[in-house]
Amino acid sequence: MSATCIFCRIVAEEVPAAFVHKDDDLVAFRDLSPQAPCHVLVIPRKHVGSLNDAGGEDTLLLGKMLAAAKAIAQREGIGAGYRIVTNCGASAGQSVFHLHLHLLGGRPMSWPPG
Ligand code: AMP
Repeated sequence: MSATCIFCRIVAEEVPAAFVHKDDDLVAFRDLSPQAPCHVLVIPRKHVGSLNDAGGEDTLLLGKMLAAAKAIAQREGIGAGYRIVTNCGASAGQSVFHLHLHLLGGRPMSWPPG
């Protein structure tokens, strides 16, 4: 837990969020500034700054994040087509330095992303 990390504060339920999933390892909630009709963030309860900060001991956790994103996509009705993104580092657009997957769907997606 980092007292200065907004996502740690969401995990601790000190800051409100629209949760769509909670388990012992992860929580998922709707993005405050959605970039698609469905835009959910999947985050570990444990503070990990970014994918670059995930160690070998986090391999199972990373798999759980992907599996949770897939299950949420099915529940949200976007299972036929969705995108999962993690921005790693400020130059890639990361603005919150607590590892998260963006789950996006509900509209056509273009490639490459900007
Ligand atoms: P990134 O820029 O990849 O680090 O993504 C951070 C995401 O967190 C952005 O899409 C923000 O809109 C979202 N965000 C920041 N603060 C909150 C919050 N309090 N509740 C929900 N989403 C948030």
